[in-house]
Amino acid sequence: MAAKPTICVYCGSSPGADPGYTAAATALGRGIANAGWRLIYGAGDLGLMGATARACLDAGGEVIGVIPHHLRDIEKETMGLTALIRTETMHERKKVMFATADAFIVLPGGPGTLDETIETLTWRQLGLHEKPLAFVDVDGYWRPFFELMDHMADRKFMADRFLGFYEVAPSPEAALDAVRAALS
Ligand code: AMP
Repeated sequence: MAAKPTICVYCGSSPGADPGYTAAATALGRGIANAGWRLIYGAGDLGLMGATARACLDAGGEVIGVIPHHLRDIEKETMGLTALIRTETMHERKKVMFATADAFIVLPGGPGTLDETIETLTWRQLGLHEKPLAFVDVDGYWRPFFELMDHMADRKFMADRFLGFYEVAPSPEAALDAVRAALS
């Protein structure tokens, strides 16, 4: 395992419809700090993104934010970040987050979260990396996504091995355990 693993968190820029989502984000941010790991994320102070980052910082963790210039007024970076990396484009932002991370954890989120997650998984399929990825499946939020993946595999538009590129964890703590096991 790297001396100080960097965990990339993909999650919603919205809080979602249930306070349980924010509670999971807070527990994950705190858990990353308590593990002695570093968080990298999209820098925004909104929704689950902000909740994860603030909890990590409050627990004494290091947080790197990555944000394109054009989003700074919209997503408003979290105060007190350990480092803030500004990029020209969304693609550059994703590239920096991907390249810096040792592992990925996915909380509930919207289309941006889905885009980042599916790109990371398809790059694994193409042999571009072997970095672990775990979903925190809060209240079964990601169940329709897993069903779609099963459907694609069943209908032979996706290799079965794709289903092994991600772990499904019921809680932030379980996702951290899955990542710890994969990195050790
Ligand atoms: P969302 O899950 O839609 O709330 O978005 C979560 C994060 O993903 C936000 O920081 C968005 O700026 C970012 N995002 C939105 N669309 C994209 C995209 N096409 N590619 C990469 N990131 C995106």
